[in-house]
Amino acid sequence: MTAFPLPPGSVIGVLGGGQLGRMLALAAARLGFDVAVLEPEADSPAARVAAHAVVGAYDDPSALARLAELSDVVTYEFENVPARAVATLAELGVETAPCARALAVAQDRVAEKTFLNEAGVATVAFAAAHDAAGAAEAVAQVGVPALMKTCRDGYDGKGQRWVEHLADAAAAFAALGGDPVIVEAPADFMRELSVIAVRARGGEIAIYPPGENHHENGVLRRTSAPAQVSRKAAEQIERIAHQILNSLDYVGVIGIELFELKGGRLLVNELAPRVHNTGHWTQDGCEVDQFEQHVRAVAGWPLGPTEPHHRVEMTNLLGEEAAAWAALAAEPESRLHLYGKREMKAGRKMGHVNRLHPLK
Ligand code: AMP
Repeated sequence: MTAFPLPPGSVIGVLGGGQLGRMLALAAARLGFDVAVLEPEADSPAARVAAHAVVGAYDDPSALARLAELSDVVTYEFENVPARAVATLAELGVETAPCARALAVAQDRVAEKTFLNEAGVATVAFAAAHDAAGAAEAVAQVGVPALMKTCRDGYDGKGQRWVEHLADAAAAFAALGGDPVIVEAPADFMRELSVIAVRARGGEIAIYPPGENHHENGVLRRTSAPAQVSRKAAEQIERIAHQILNSLDYVGVIGIELFELKGGRLLVNELAPRVHNTGHWTQDGCEVDQFEQHVRAVAGWPLGPTEPHHRVEMTNLLGEEAAAWAALAAEPESRLHLYGKREMKAGRKMGHVNRLHPLK
């Protein structure tokens, strides 16, 4: 049994070597921890700032054994970690946070929405299907238009199709690859909000003010935070975050994506059981950012304050946009974060810029 709080000098294992792992490792280093990264590719953004790098597949038993040997606790920077990896780490006696259940819920859209509804959190109406006939039944049940999404492995708007007519259901199912799908009623939302919340080992919860998100082609473009929300909406968001975190007995940071409907009602769209792109504004807008909060939570430390001291507009730098680093660095109100990715590909998240404004 691991004794918490972990003292400085302990090692935090991270599954995944992307930018989220890199920013977690930097935050961990500030508190005196070392990070061990497990990632299939050598020379990953996170591995280059971490004390230990293990290169191997997420379900490679010897790579997992090495990670377990190095780490006092293991966390994730993405949710599509094979369940086998989590089970292997548990068998090796390493504590993982967030828990396996949080990952399982977030990996499958039907399990996610079922969990949310059972926890008393509203979502769009939905139905599940695992074959073409079932897909037609699900569309008939939900009504048209409906949004059909693959249950697993969808991200950044991939693996989704609008179905306008019941007769198109089977073709949409086939076009999505024939894997299990969820069929969702359309959310007639005014805006997309998200909230970053964190739960400590002792059950204490801290919540950042919500951000307003703008996507382009299914990819997050901008987050403005704190978003202007009514008191009623702020209270609803707080209640939703508490219900989700407590129901999962969650430890760490979670990102909760929300639709704000015309009447002010909030529906949860998606959960990210990890630090989240829509929480990057906290790095320069709050005293303690989402990365440090996550490290504090998994290490069993007290949580830090979540109050904002600046309004922030966070813009993702996709592909070539990161080539403007010199001009961005010269803007006095901008704080530049670059991920050190070796290859600049179109649409790839290369960094982000946080533009600071006084709090209104
Ligand atoms: P997701 O992969 O579930 O995060 O969806 C990606 C984006 O598609 C969301 O950010 C929304 O803009 C849109 N979207 C997802 N689900 C729905 C829905 N049921 N109704 C309307 N728009 C949706």
